[in-house]
Amino acid sequence: MTEPVLTFTDRGIYCPAGDFFIDPWRPVARALITHGHADHARPGHGSYLATEAALPVMRHRLGEINAEGIRYGEARRIGDATVSFHPAGHLPGSAQVRVEVGGQVWVASGDYKTTDDGFCEPFEPVRCHAFITECTFGLPVFTWAPQAEVAREINAWWQACADEGKTALLGAYSLGKAQRLLSLLDPIGPILTHGAVEATNEVLRGQGYSLPDTTHVTPDLDLKALKTPLVIAPPSALGGQWVRRFRNASTGFASGWMRLRGIRRRRAMDRGFVLSDHADWPGLQEAIKATGAETVFATHGYTEIFARWLSEQGYDAHVVPTEFGGEADEAESAA
Ligand SMILES: [Zn+2]
Ligand SMILES: [Zn+2]
Repeated sequence: MTEPVLTFTDRGIYCPAGDFFIDPWRPVARALITHGHADHARPGHGSYLATEAALPVMRHRLGEINAEGIRYGEARRIGDATVSFHPAGHLPGSAQVRVEVGGQVWVASGDYKTTDDGFCEPFEPVRCHAFITECTFGLPVFTWAPQAEVAREINAWWQACADEGKTALLGAYSLGKAQRLLSLLDPIGPILTHGAVEATNEVLRGQGYSLPDTTHVTPDLDLKALKTPLVIAPPSALGGQWVRRFRNASTGFASGWMRLRGIRRRRAMDRGFVLSDHADWPGLQEAIKATGAETVFATHGYTEIFARWLSEQGYDAHVVPTEFGGEADEAESAA
């Protein structure tokens, strides 16, 4: 029996033929990283390989790392494996990793979304024999409305806040979601940012991603002089001291989890906008079908339910255990 192209270890997805890991959660000698989110790009690896577009944010978050960039679609030989990175449509620079060994092709999706958001590099299906898919939103209840519709809701909310003399406070994960939201706004006033969001904006602007003007909220910023502002901050900041300076505000939160009423209630936000950087239920099905894969591994989300559904559809489906340790929480805010 030939060895599988990728195996699942207690440090993460491993390629024996190339002796490397993909998005490992414990320090390893050689790591291929799908994107810069904290649960995928962790500190402490000997070397990093990621797309050229993903690297600046990774360096910003991880500091001094021994990292190399690769272009989308460029093939590279590592040991007896050939690897390449392909757009995952999740956030700027995000990739699926294609690994080929002895004619067998496996793809590790990382996080992905299939609809084009007009901001990051759009998802490209990659043909393979085995596909390791995330399924953060692998339940039929998770279907997303077209982005333009959600954008209209958010802009209408901003206008309503302005009419009532309130500040619109929008919670969004600082890498990815915040910038996608920025690209969807029709500014009727200044856009203010929390430091974590502004730092990521700066990195992405430096790479040539186009974002509207934003103003970092510093202690000396005269908030009273600003008319009808909208503020973007990470969800953690909305629950803390930082947010107290904005009196008379309406809070909104943009996430796929806003599809669930229980979570909307628990978050105690005035408004929930259903907007995710992950594939919805139809998107997952479409993506898996497009790979042509017979074998599918479900990870990151509703794995058991999703793998069972895949088996019923005739796939050779498996569940991949993932390390938790706070990931569910992070996923909830990042998604
Ligand atoms: Zn992610
Ligand atoms: Zn993730």
